[in-house]
Amino acid sequence: MSSISEMFKRKKKATPVFENFHHSNELFEESQKLFPGGVNSPVRAFNSVEGNPVFIDKGDGCRITDADGNAYIDFCCSWGPLILGHNHIAVREGVIEAVEKGLSFGAPTRLENELATLMLRHNSYLDKLRFVNSGTEAVMSAIRLARGFTGKNKIIKFEGCYHGHVDSLLVKAGSGLVTLGESSSAGIPEGFVKETLVLPLNDMVALEKCFAEHGDDIAAIIVEPLPANNGLLIQDKDYLQYLRDITLKYKSLLIFDEVISGYRIGAEGAAGFYEIQPDLITYGKIIGGGMPVGAYGGRSDIMAQISPMGAVYQAGTLSGNPVAMAAGLAQLKECLKPGFYDKLEMKTADFVQSIYDFVVERNFPVRIFHLASIFWISFSANDRITRADEISAKDMERFGKFHRELLKRGVYFGPSGYEVGFISEAHTVKDLKIARDVICEALDKAFED
Ligand code: PLP
Repeated sequence: MSSISEMFKRKKKATPVFENFHHSNELFEESQKLFPGGVNSPVRAFNSVEGNPVFIDKGDGCRITDADGNAYIDFCCSWGPLILGHNHIAVREGVIEAVEKGLSFGAPTRLENELATLMLRHNSYLDKLRFVNSGTEAVMSAIRLARGFTGKNKIIKFEGCYHGHVDSLLVKAGSGLVTLGESSSAGIPEGFVKETLVLPLNDMVALEKCFAEHGDDIAAIIVEPLPANNGLLIQDKDYLQYLRDITLKYKSLLIFDEVISGYRIGAEGAAGFYEIQPDLITYGKIIGGGMPVGAYGGRSDIMAQISPMGAVYQAGTLSGNPVAMAAGLAQLKECLKPGFYDKLEMKTADFVQSIYDFVVERNFPVRIFHLASIFWISFSANDRITRADEISAKDMERFGKFHRELLKRGVYFGPSGYEVGFISEAHTVKDLKIARDVICEALDKAFED
């Protein structure tokens, strides 16, 4: 049997090009009168790429269809949650069954227990969990808990890591802000940010200095162990282990923000991949199967500090919503089937290699980083990028054109060169071959000048 890469090398026909975005453009005109910038999340705006956002009508498998009927192979996958692709039958049926029983009760349901049991049984890095409604909420709650547990105030975060729109963490926080050319959000009192210490990733000396200076008052380090919001900045295990060691030394907590990596790079996420036990872990995206869900969890003695057991207050009208739990449960059951993650990883590796073969043939200054089913096309010839300041805004200039050329040919990426791509179970080898050819054509166009 020929390998996927060999199949990709065979001669291809020219790809059809869409010209009609008429309905999307009309909807965008209308939405601009309704929402700031016409969108309900800034990363949906097309500010750093050419053209207007396309409005999506429906999704099925690895494809989404826009308001004009143009179909795209989707590598955004709702920014990561859809590891099974769109409209997966098990998720759909789970949701319908839950909906038929009622949407929300404000009282516990069996589904919360079932999803938590599944998560805890397959993840040895967690003792206890609390469900919330988004990744931002999970992070915000974990930070409060870390402060409540340690009695300390300061939090260390890293340049390029995004942890949701939590006030104190919106400093040098990845794609959304970088794309807007900002390092921090307006509207956040200086006093909040004063308690946030921002350091470059992969710099042990800076970390040691910071702890030497502020160690008595550092409640926690929060890090994306697989930073995937400012390109894909794959860290060394030694560095992540150093975060663990120094937090133990100074009696601070280590929080892994696994909102993207949780149940994406395996059931035990990045903690399991690197074999590092953090004190707290935050989740979102995949555990909700496309519905709004977040969670934070960790050591029992720390989690015992949360209300109603402990003094750290955290609550939510819709937390553990049964419909969202049903979606997450159905999705995780699929992910936990034997071989699921290995298959996804192999598909991704072959796909990335087939594009990289083309890049090498053309000698383009492009590299493709990947881990598990996450990949990032970097418009620079750097073979290793571990820090946000190793990516230059200039390198991103070609991405806008690349993105437009992809869109016209039926491939959808998040509209910023700092965003990673996600591969789902629904992306077949055939789909990936089509996408690969389109990506190569779009690269040719992007470098035409
Ligand atoms: N943490 C990380 C690592 C994320 O990638 C995100 C969102 O992309 C968040 C937190 C915030 O999650 P949400 O958008 O669900 O609030």
